[in-house]
Amino acid sequence: MISELTAMLHMYQMNMQIRLINMLILIIIWMSYTKTRKLPFRSSRYFNVVLWLTSINMIFDVWSVYGVFHLNAISAETNRMIHFLFMGTLICVLASTYFYILSMEEFGNMKLKSMLTVVRILPLFVCLVGMSISEVHYYSGADGAYSYGTMTNFAYVAIMFYYIAALVCVVRNCKKWSTERLINIFAGFFIWGGCVIIQFHTKTILISGTGLMLMLLLNYLAFEDPKVYVNSENGNFNEIAYRKMLIEQFKKKRPFEVFQVTFKEFNVVHGRYGHEICQKILMDLSRIIEEQIGARIYSIEEETIAFMMEHRCMKCEDVLKEVLEKTEYDWVHNDNLIHITGVFYQISCPTDVTDMAGLEDTFSFMKKYQNQEERILRADTKLLEEKKRYATIINMLEYAIDNDGFEMVYQPIFSTKEKDFHSAEALVRLKDKETLGFVSPEEFIQIAEKENLIMQVGEAVLSKVCSFARENSLIEKGIRYIEVNLSGVQCIDQGLPKQIEGVLKKYGLPYDFINLEITETAAVESGEMLALNMDKLMKKGVAFSMDDFGTGYSNLAQMAEVNYELIKIDKSLIWYCYPQQRKILKKDEAENLVSEGVKKSKVILDQVIHLINKLDLKIVAEGVETEEMVSMLTDAGVEYLQGYYFSRPLGEVDFMNFIQQQ
Ligand code: C2E
Ligand code: CA
Ligand code: CA
Repeated sequence: MISELTAMLHMYQMNMQIRLINMLILIIIWMSYTKTRKLPFRSSRYFNVVLWLTSINMIFDVWSVYGVFHLNAISAETNRMIHFLFMGTLICVLASTYFYILSMEEFGNMKLKSMLTVVRILPLFVCLVGMSISEVHYYSGADGAYSYGTMTNFAYVAIMFYYIAALVCVVRNCKKWSTERLINIFAGFFIWGGCVIIQFHTKTILISGTGLMLMLLLNYLAFEDPKVYVNSENGNFNEIAYRKMLIEQFKKKRPFEVFQVTFKEFNVVHGRYGHEICQKILMDLSRIIEEQIGARIYSIEEETIAFMMEHRCMKCEDVLKEVLEKTEYDWVHNDNLIHITGVFYQISCPTDVTDMAGLEDTFSFMKKYQNQEERILRADTKLLEEKKRYATIINMLEYAIDNDGFEMVYQPIFSTKEKDFHSAEALVRLKDKETLGFVSPEEFIQIAEKENLIMQVGEAVLSKVCSFARENSLIEKGIRYIEVNLSGVQCIDQGLPKQIEGVLKKYGLPYDFINLEITETAAVESGEMLALNMDKLMKKGVAFSMDDFGTGYSNLAQMAEVNYELIKIDKSLIWYCYPQQRKILKKDEAENLVSEGVKKSKVILDQVIHLINKLDLKIVAEGVETEEMVSMLTDAGVEYLQGYYFSRPLGEVDFMNFIQQQ
């Protein structure tokens, strides 16, 4: 009898020590969980429930073990209650673990989902009700301690049900999760299952609770470890978290706003101080926004942070105003003041954009709007229309590249000395005039540049010009060269000289038949690569013209340094000397300008012409529309004139007729 009592005491102490270990594991999970930032996912909210239920279950576990070993000290009613609560919360833990794993699955059909939820919760309710009205008995002796009876049987059924259901769910999602995650989650289930079996057989070592804690720990490491979702550099959530959060948000079908924030001075700061300082500034912006709005901040690209706001209300507008104010400030770095201007991009979902792909598309489109003056750019109807147009133009360009969809028009250039036309500027058009009506090359060339299509457009342009010249024997008919426009992006492409050589050779045309026009701005910005390309082509005999002179940097040094053959004075410079004729100004404005501004413009133009002549460069004046302009420019010493006065850009047939009539 005494030895049995000693054995029982020993068993009781051992089981209480096991519970101490359980508690330790739980404390570790809680500490790690509370210390780190909360993940904004549906599944994480379920995990929170699992964690709480497990903690409550642990308390009842300790209590029920105490109860079994002290049957005489506790009333039967209380003991029954404790056992009911222990087993009930255990079922809840298993059920919530099942729902937790389920919450990581994609959910499609909402109606079906609600019906399934009822079916999934049913065993829990049936068993809890069954348990509450059924019997439980206890045994404790030297060979073990346990409870038995209908109440326990009900609990076994429910536990088995949720255990198997959870395992099935894991197997179903096998492909979606990494091996590491799968190992963790399977190990968790098998450890708990193993502990239950050991307890069932020995009846002396009550370690199912330890199994439960270990399972929880492994699930935590597999799915809730915040390291996966946090940017270690700046402590914000990362892009994985951002995407996961938004995908869930879209499914809720409630309105929300997504913001991306960068700062205007990013390029300069990055160039001067490097990546780390940029990160620090973004962190600073993050903290300000966090404080003001209380939103979670995500670092999604090197230079961008993002956040989401759920409700669209007047208060949001006020808070935003304040955020805008606070995100323009001076930042001090090593005694240097850096002025920071946070720039916000805002998209309303699901009104304007209904899915993740659309959101990404729209943000990247918005960011292409450089020189953005406003502090906050909203994806309003106008912007979305523009985005649609932009996408349509990309399609048109791609189609035109593959299906000979470009055509060239030629604007004759008049020689004031020879009183004749010996050259022309080739200008590109899209054949497709149905989809969007006439689209100006000014618009589609820019898009081709941004979308990496410009080299293909350039090749098509040059091929068309050359084949036209060849077929119609332009050289024999007195056309000495054709001016072909090059965009800034083409200028710095290493493949440019080869491309031009290839096309000229293919059509058997001499190199000096092509005169490449480079806008002044592109020339200044292109730097060394352009110099290299120009050098290669010039050596072969290709000539260059500086286009749009007077609109960009007016870089006179460049003009002297680079061997341009021709300078094209931009039409705006000329038009400012003739405001009334051009009607570019309102009538009364024009009258006022006639006196002062126009006089000055004329002085500038005269001096520019004089300067270019002094440098022995040819001059083309663009945008010549009236007889007065012709005579004034001729008198001022301009050798070549181009403009509507002589001819608009002409299609191939019209151009041939035009030069043959001369
Ligand atoms: P740009 O090189 O400055 O071309 C001159 C533009 O002025 C042409 O517009 C021409 O039609 C227009 N123009 C000429 N004379 C007059 C005039 O007297 N009055 C008025 N109001 N306008 C006149 P377009 O054809 O719309 O071309 C616009 C721009 O698109 C060009 O400006 C050029 O930058 C670009 N572009 C056109 N074709 C090509 C091309 O084949 N390749 C590249 N890269 N760019 C091109
Ligand atoms: Ca041009
Ligand atoms: Ca021009």
